[in-house]
Amino acid sequence: MKLSLVVPCFNEENNVFPFYRAVEETFVPLGIEHEIIFVNDGSSDGTPEKLKALYRQAQSPVTVISFSRNFGKEAAMFAGLEHVKGDYVCLIDADLQQRPEVVAEMVRILDEEPDLDCVAAFQDQRSESAALRFFKDGFYKLINSVSTTRFTQGASDFRTFRRKVAESVISLGEYHRFSKGLLSWVGYNVRYIPYKAEERASGESKWSFKKLFKYAVEGIMAFSVAPLLLPLIIGLVMICASVLCFIGRAIIAALTYSDFGATQAVIITLLLCTGILLSCLGIVAMYLAKIYEQSKDRPIYIAKEILTPEDK
Ligand code: UDP
Ligand code: MG
Repeated sequence: MKLSLVVPCFNEENNVFPFYRAVEETFVPLGIEHEIIFVNDGSSDGTPEKLKALYRQAQSPVTVISFSRNFGKEAAMFAGLEHVKGDYVCLIDADLQQRPEVVAEMVRILDEEPDLDCVAAFQDQRSESAALRFFKDGFYKLINSVSTTRFTQGASDFRTFRRKVAESVISLGEYHRFSKGLLSWVGYNVRYIPYKAEERASGESKWSFKKLFKYAVEGIMAFSVAPLLLPLIIGLVMICASVLCFIGRAIIAALTYSDFGATQAVIITLLLCTGILLSCLGIVAMYLAKIYEQSKDRPIYIAKEILTPEDK
């Protein structure tokens, strides 16, 4: 099998068949052997029936995984990746915003360049509001400043990669998944190609602003422990400020032959004590961060290739 397409579907009843037809029209003439793995993510419309009908009628191999409820796109992609058989794996949406023709181009690039492991598409044009663009820009700036994993602006999950990349991604078994980060974390040689996201073929986007915000927070929490260290930084700043205030006040008192001042003493003591408390909390958080990292149980390394004397 050359190519496996992993397609998460949540309430996509009108897109299932058009998607399948578009895939067939693209890959059959090119002679690219392919399979489609649909993951029905707890749809409440006619998607399950449509998928079953397609499963029975389809010429190309079709796998349908149906979730017991809506677990989210991340879980759907994970389930799909667990079932792939192809040499190349493509993550693609069911709504035809991401065209199979672009996948064919990704496959061509991977065929031509054996050193390349993944071709990812990034959106160079997308019709979205200025507020959403501002929020997304801010998110990429923030996450790149607090995380050691690199996040490419506009890069979606829409990408085609070699099977070994898929295996590496599913070897990361963490519960709170953020694929953009996981795909970057596993490394490998990635090429970014621009694409234009089309209009949705049918139905509505499942991502409200609230859902996107939650997803962004999830991403930052999954790939950075910086927020946990915030109390330590604030605490240390407060301790420094209290020491400076103390010195400043003492100098003023000495120069003016006046009292230190009971109110000033209380304020400085309060500043110092709060600073110490926050710093201690920050130190505890540092250990918590280590436990958090360990609990994700990510592999310590991912070897792309191991050449042993026996392989010579
Ligand atoms: N999706 C899913 N589970 C969800 C939400 C979305 O499987 O809880 C699927 C959806 O059916 C589609 C893809 O993820 O195939 C992308 O969703 P959508 O088109 O709503 O996102 P957008 O393109 O607006 O970012
Ligand atoms: Mg979409």
